[in-house]
Amino acid sequence: MKQAYNFNAGPCVLPREAVEATIEAIREFDNTGIGLLEISHRTPGWEKVMSETRALWRELLHISPEYEILFLGGGASTQFFTVPANLMKKKAAYLQTGVWAKKAAKEANLFGEVKIVASSEDKTYSYIPKNYSIPMDADYFHITTNNTIYGTEIRRDIDCPVTLVADMSSDILSRPVNVSKYGLIYAGAQKNVGPAGVTVVIVRKDLLGNIGFRQYMNPLPTFVDYRTHAIAEEKNISMFNTPPVFAIYVMYQTLKWVKSKGGVPAMEELARKRSEMLYNEIDRNSLFVGTAAKEDRSVMNHCWVMAPGKEALQDEFMAFAKERGMVGIKGHRSVGGFRASLYNACPIEAVEALVACMQEFEKLHK
Ligand SMILES: *Cc1c(COP(=O)(O)O)cnc(C)c1O
Repeated sequence: MKQAYNFNAGPCVLPREAVEATIEAIREFDNTGIGLLEISHRTPGWEKVMSETRALWRELLHISPEYEILFLGGGASTQFFTVPANLMKKKAAYLQTGVWAKKAAKEANLFGEVKIVASSEDKTYSYIPKNYSIPMDADYFHITTNNTIYGTEIRRDIDCPVTLVADMSSDILSRPVNVSKYGLIYAGAQKNVGPAGVTVVIVRKDLLGNIGFRQYMNPLPTFVDYRTHAIAEEKNISMFNTPPVFAIYVMYQTLKWVKSKGGVPAMEELARKRSEMLYNEIDRNSLFVGTAAKEDRSVMNHCWVMAPGKEALQDEFMAFAKERGMVGIKGHRSVGGFRASLYNACPIEAVEALVACMQEFEKLHK
């Protein structure tokens, strides 16, 4: 296979072990003589994958039985409307730290009053706003813990006076999280936990089924109501309808891989190492500058541009890096420059290769 270092922002690099195990299961699933994609999702073997995948989530993030864990089709974007549909009685507060956060707030507007408590749009979302106040009458406060496009991150569990809801699509399982501080966490799988097609939703049970007056005016469609999926689990029927079996299976294998590597604390340690290595080079190298505020830098997505006066070298560096096997380092069009996404499955050798490439390029242009 061609040597490539994959820095794509999502979909992105997966553990090789998870990919290989999935290929095997597609050929033949669980000694049945039938492939994973061809078998009924009501077979005991598949039920077992569902329950083991849930158990792995519980184990890896220490999720208490007060929370339901749902695997829903559609991306994180589907949760932008499903969250307010289920949790909003009248009003919700949002922290606008990027376009994903903005899109989430836009959907919430369909269900009630939305208060944007702060936004960093003024500086292309290059920092996380501080010193905002959360209205006490909000049904929940929504944050995006990692801003994939801009490389900023809220890398701690904040204190919140109302129910805290977090889009953790691009940093879940990269650090231990105190789940009990959140009412709901959701994450599209295709950054840290699998391929596109499934979103994990971790929701505190007591929050469900209480949408106030809306219950009478606009009852929820069955599928949109989280309880449809939660209650199915309680009755020991782990699926309301056909789940995205392929995406869930890769997630299952990815969680097994995380566990075998030492769990979430080990992922955190690796993330710190990879990230430090790259930021050190961005800060040291005279040709480049980072774009995100240092105190808010993400350990998942790293954004940088050419240093002032060196802008003309941008295309040349892109070609130079490409020749050396770097894939997916073009920055998002709204930020420009470069972005390297270093998710859980990104090997340290990939970062070493990128850093070496940046150093070599600097030597050529000193
Ligand atoms: C990628 C991403 C999304 C969108 O996910 P889809 O699964 O494509 O809908 C939402 N939020 C964050 C933080 C993301 O990184």
